[in-house]
Amino acid sequence: MSDCIFCKIAAGEIPSKKLYEDDEMLVFLDITPMAPVHYLVIPKKHIQSLLELEEADTALLGRLFFKAQEIAKEKGCEEKGGRFVINAKTDGGQTVDHLHIHFLGGRALGWPPG
Ligand code: 5GP
Ligand code: ZN
Repeated sequence: MSDCIFCKIAAGEIPSKKLYEDDEMLVFLDITPMAPVHYLVIPKKHIQSLLELEEADTALLGRLFFKAQEIAKEKGCEEKGGRFVINAKTDGGQTVDHLHIHFLGGRALGWPPG
């Protein structure tokens, strides 16, 4: 989508600190980290939110989560863990309308969210 900031990051039109990239996904550091480890995993394909996921995208979503946990381990978060989050739409606090998985780690996180 032409006016989507994460599509622009995926296309390299907006710079990002990339941790991983392949044909279908990109992993990059969040610009406003909320934890010592905070990165985003996005599909290069524009999907507005988890609520727009199509059945054909289920394997892709699995691969996004697989990569998310691989990188969490690379970042030293295997033992203590962290949080894999997908915010969806207004009540979920989604601010960028392109599906993304957050990973936050490196500190203890509160629950429930505010
Ligand atoms: P959401 O609130 O939609 O779940 O998360 C969007 C995330 O994208 C936020 O944590 C925000 O800091 C991050 N973000 C927004 N714009 C940019 C950007 O231009 N570059 C990077 N690296 N992260 C961004
Ligand atoms: Zn997009």
